Amino acid sequence: MTSEQIYWKERASTLYIEARAYIDGAYVDAISGQTFDCINPATGRSIATVASCDAADVDRAVKSGRRAFESGEWSRVNPLERKRVLQRFSSLLLEHREELALLESLNIGKPITNAFNGDIISSATTLQWYAEAIDKVYGEVAQSGHEMTTMVIREPLGVVAAVVPWNYPLSMACWKLGPALAAGNSVILKPAEQSPLTAIRIAALATQAGIPKGVLNVLPGYGETAGKALGLHMDVDAVAFTGSTAVGKLFMQYAGQSNIKRVGLECGGKSPHIVLADCDDLDAAARSVAAGIFANAGQVCNAGSRLIVDTRIAEAFLERVVEHAANLPPGDPLDPATRLGAIVSQKQLDRVSSYIQSGKIEGARLLIGGERTLTETGGYFLSPTVFAGVTQGMRIARDEIFGPVLSAITVSGLEEAIAVANNTSYGLAAGIWTQNVKSALHASRMLRAGVVWVNCFDRGSMAAPFGGFKQSGFGRDKSLHAFDKYTDWKSIWMAH
Ligand code: NAD
Repeated sequence: MTSEQIYWKERASTLYIEARAYIDGAYVDAISGQTFDCINPATGRSIATVASCDAADVDRAVKSGRRAFESGEWSRVNPLERKRVLQRFSSLLLEHREELALLESLNIGKPITNAFNGDIISSATTLQWYAEAIDKVYGEVAQSGHEMTTMVIREPLGVVAAVVPWNYPLSMACWKLGPALAAGNSVILKPAEQSPLTAIRIAALATQAGIPKGVLNVLPGYGETAGKALGLHMDVDAVAFTGSTAVGKLFMQYAGQSNIKRVGLECGGKSPHIVLADCDDLDAAARSVAAGIFANAGQVCNAGSRLIVDTRIAEAFLERVVEHAANLPPGDPLDPATRLGAIVSQKQLDRVSSYIQSGKIEGARLLIGGERTLTETGGYFLSPTVFAGVTQGMRIARDEIFGPVLSAITVSGLEEAIAVANNTSYGLAAGIWTQNVKSALHASRMLRAGVVWVNCFDRGSMAAPFGGFKQSGFGRDKSLHAFDKYTDWKSIWMAH
């Protein structure tokens, strides 16, 4: 063990883990007293006993959020004050960077290096970005004649439920919290049952930063109980959801069955990563294809899980990708050298393994990986997997696997590549490698995806919106466009 690894392990062994819900400015148990175990996927062992919230807790949190909203102490406070407080919240995330990175790593098996250098910083950046935006978003004055002045202004919605997944627990939460809080809403954050720890921890940091009690409540719990109760609650004004398409559809039903609450959906993907024969840097493309599917052990909504490569270069290109996969052995997430961590749960490991099995049965060629490794740890580790000879009818070409599994499909030329890329019910992201500017522009317009990367992959910043076409959802996270999910437009007509 390196000294750094020992440091993180010692730090982990003395870490205090808060696992209760946070309602109205205080940590509380679930009203039912029910709990569930929070499992470290790198060891298979429980690290905390978490409050299991249900409809009664949801009701309590909604009442708290509503009271805070109506009081105006956040919703109507001077924007400069909201900005100051959100900036302090962002700074507190950075001050607690080590603790939060450790919680994230222990909770979902993410390499500590990625959590420490990636997730925590990007989460703080998100809060900071929306803090800065607060007093830079303007309303409009409509052209309504000389006898009338018509102002068109944004108003916060009220109580917003943010329901998030486990793959980037803190980052996904902050993509919602940033714009929702900046706009003046109260937020009830429901983390995924697999990954509640950082959400629970930052609730107290929010209060410390000066966010009034009730403005941010955090409810750990199962989807079928806490999540569903939020979706059906008559006094929740909006749900900002990130997760699977199947559950996204449920939230639309919940909205219809209750109060037509606004719903924003960031759902799954099966993103194509196209490499054309004229790509002039196959090394860079291969690095990018490997990173595009193996980062975060493939548990990424916009993972480039379908490699669509021209037949003429396929063999040589796949050799390079396999080389990268071979250099990514899964390892202890608390070892700073580890780049591929654990799969989040036994259930997810089984799901990914069943897809690997189906790829073999359906006749795809396994080039590398496909095995569970490090079983002696008790954790859920899977070696990076590459399938060649994949055809469009196979399950590994169609379904979102959400694991480190790349499915390579060969095509002849640009038009077939675009057709194959678009042959999916998803439309979150797409990438294309080509030197030809016409091909790049043509593909960028033809690909049915919310994000297109040309000669790069998985790039982003808070300045550009992120979200999907088709069954990858609707509404956008990041950028000023995210305010559309957390505000309503009001027209005020003044006769004079
Ligand atoms: P999931 O849909 O199972 O769960 C997401 C959230 O919904 C969790 O908080 C969960 O508790 C809740 N939930 C589950 N069942 C529910 C129900 N019946 N009613 C109400 N709430 C319920 O997704 P997951 O497995 O946590 O995450 C993986 C999925 O998230 C993948 O499909 C991935 O593509 C997607 N994702 C999308 C984005 C994006 O920005 N588009 C980002 C990250 C992850």
